[in-house]
Amino acid sequence: MPIPPGSTVGILGGGQLGRMTALAAAAMGYRCHVFCPEADAPAAEVCGRATRAAFDDGRALDGFADACDIVTWESENVPADALDRLAAHVPVRPGRRALAAACDRRAEKAFLGRLGIATTAWAPVDSPGALASAAAALGGPAILKTARFGYDGKGQRPFAPGGDAEAAWAALGAAEAVLEARVDFERELSVVLGRGQDGATACFDVVENAHEGGILRTARAPARIPAATAAEARGIAARIAEALDVVGLLTVELFALAGGRLLVNEIAPRPHNSGHWTVDACPTSQFELLVRAVCGLPLEGTERLADAVTTNILGGEVEGWQAPLADPACRLHLYGKAQARPGRKMGHVTRLAPRRD
Ligand code: AMP
Repeated sequence: MPIPPGSTVGILGGGQLGRMTALAAAAMGYRCHVFCPEADAPAAEVCGRATRAAFDDGRALDGFADACDIVTWESENVPADALDRLAAHVPVRPGRRALAAACDRRAEKAFLGRLGIATTAWAPVDSPGALASAAAALGGPAILKTARFGYDGKGQRPFAPGGDAEAAWAALGAAEAVLEARVDFERELSVVLGRGQDGATACFDVVENAHEGGILRTARAPARIPAATAAEARGIAARIAEALDVVGLLTVELFALAGGRLLVNEIAPRPHNSGHWTVDACPTSQFELLVRAVCGLPLEGTERLADAVTTNILGGEVEGWQAPLADPACRLHLYGKAQARPGRKMGHVTRLAPRRD
C-alpha cells in the first residue's frame, strides 16, 4: 500500500539534504516534519513541523514517530539507537542494515568484501602500533581515516610506511580508524539509485566528481566514461542496494582506474551532493525519487533531459550569489545557512547544456 500524499514524511537530520527532500515531498503534497538537534537547521526552515531535540531524547523521538507516517534520514551519522526507537512505532526507510553498513568504514569495507565488490586495499587500525604494521603491509602511500563521523575530507590524513605513527594517531584523535592504500585513480564517479520495497530500482546517470581538499567541488553529468563502465557502476549499486535491502536511495562513490577497473570508495544510503544535478536536469530529482521509494510510489523519471555540471558554493563564495541568477543556463540553490564558515556547503549552482548524446 502506498503512503499517499497528505501523509507526513519525517526526516531525521536537518541539513541541506533534508531540506531538499522536504521541498520535493511538499511539491508532491506531503507534509514534512524534521527532527534535528540544531537550532538553525536548513531543513527546519522549509518543514511545516520541526522537533528540535537530541537524537538520544527518547520522549522526543516517540512524539516524532507518532506524528509521522514514514521516517527517512539524511545522514549516516544519526545513531542506530534512534532508528530502532522510531522503528518500533513507524516505518523507517532505509532501515537499520543500510545504516550499519554505511556509518563505519570498517563495516562498509568488510561488507563490500563479502559481496565480492572491489575496494582499495585497507586494514582496520586501533593503535599507533597497528598503524605502523598496516602501513608496512600496504607498502605504499596510504590515507588514515577515522572509522566513523568523517565527512568532506575531515578525519583523514596521509600516512606512508616509516611515518611517525604516534604523531599521526594522536593528530587523528580517534580510537578506531582504517588505513587505505592511496589510489591513483583516473576519475571519481558516483551513482544514485532508488529502490522500492518491492525491489524495483531506478538509477540516474553516472556522474564524474572533482574534489578539492576532500570536499566535492563539481559533479558532471554524464561522466565521460564508456557505456560499459557506466553499466558496471550501476550494476554495483544495484547489488549493494539489494544486499542491504535498501528502501530509499543508495549512492555509491567509485574510483575509476586507468583501464576502466572500478573500486568502491564509499556508500551512502541517502541523497548525495553529487546527485543535486538531478533537481534541474531530470524529470524526477534524487529527492523526489527518495520520497517515491519510501512512500511506495512508482520509480520513474530518472532519465537525463540535459547535460549538467553542479558546482558547490563553499563558505564565503556565497557572497557571489547574484552572478548565476544573471546566467540563463544556471540554476541557483542556496541552503539558507546563516554562517558561511570556510569550506561549509552554502549552496550549489547547476549549469545546464543540451544533451550531447
Ligand atoms: P572520502 O571521504 O573517503 O570519500 O574521501 C574524500 C576524497 O578524498 C575522495 O573523494 C578522494 O578524492 C580522496 N580520497 C579518499 N580516499 C582515497 C584513496 N584511498 N585514494 C585516493 N584518494 C582518496
